[in-house]
Amino acid sequence: MHKEKGVIGLQVDSLVEGTNELVFTRDAADFNDRQLIDAGFGKNIRVEVSAEKSETEITISIRTSAEADLSCDICLAPVSTMLTGTYRIFYVYNDHAEREPDGNDDYRLLERTAETIDITEDVRETLLLSLPMKVTCTDNPECIMYPGSSEDTQIDDGDKSQWLESLEKLKNKYR
Ligand SMILES: [Zn+2]
Repeated sequence: MHKEKGVIGLQVDSLVEGTNELVFTRDAADFNDRQLIDAGFGKNIRVEVSAEKSETEITISIRTSAEADLSCDICLAPVSTMLTGTYRIFYVYNDHAEREPDGNDDYRLLERTAETIDITEDVRETLLLSLPMKVTCTDNPECIMYPGSSEDTQIDDGDKSQWLESLEKLKNKYR
């Protein structure tokens, strides 16, 4: 399955000098990327773009907000969370570039003749980076991570690590 390009693009001609505020709404499925779906992203990915255009460069700030269906790391209960991510890219016109891009991914060259700037891949990465490292329940009294529920569910360390280990195995099975 190939990853979609051109899902979100900026028309360079339509950008005015100064600040341009744009809002895009897409479905996770539009990106045609299994990784996004597996990560828990569903419908309604909102992308706010602020493009600062000058004679020499276009600075693009991306802000994503999307609801993701995740699961608690401890008890595996479903957790729905609103995630936001930000990313900034500097497009410098190649006739004004003072340096070559040095592998620094957020500094790129732009041709004077470029009609569109495709930010599909940047939005995709911003979404993936917005995923939290840890996910825990927020309102599930059954979960030991839920504040106030810990007293009745004391598990001694030996049991606990074994139990966590089996949960890890279970989770890996679904990866
Ligand atoms: Zn939980």
